[in-house]
Amino acid sequence: MNLACPRCTLTDQVVKNGRSRHGHQRWRCKGCALTFGERDHRLIDPAIKQSALRHYAEGVGLRATERLVGPSHNTIIGWVRQEVAGQALARLDAAQVQYVEADELWSYVGSKKTNLAVVGY
Ligand SMILES: [Zn+2]
Repeated sequence: MNLACPRCTLTDQVVKNGRSRHGHQRWRCKGCALTFGERDHRLIDPAIKQSALRHYAEGVGLRATERLVGPSHNTIIGWVRQEVAGQALARLDAAQVQYVEADELWSYVGSKKTNLAVVGY
């Protein structure tokens, strides 16, 4: 069975197009020139991701969040780490910091030269 192009849904125009830098097969549609990977990794609804992050930020544990929202706790940990990384790269104005939440994943980095703070919502 041939792959269908995700954009134009043609199945007889899709050819192999090398591999990604991670070694996954890439495909190209000769009909519309779209290139795409074997599968879409954005399989979880962004609204579910937001809901899971909100639950976690409000102090609901990872496994309770998993039970309430759906995605596995490992998936949620990945999202939290992404959020923390994104915030750690941005400088925070001390006036905007209202509280600091600390547990196994959230951490506070004080008094280093960079003055970075990682906080919950
Ligand atoms: Zn196409």
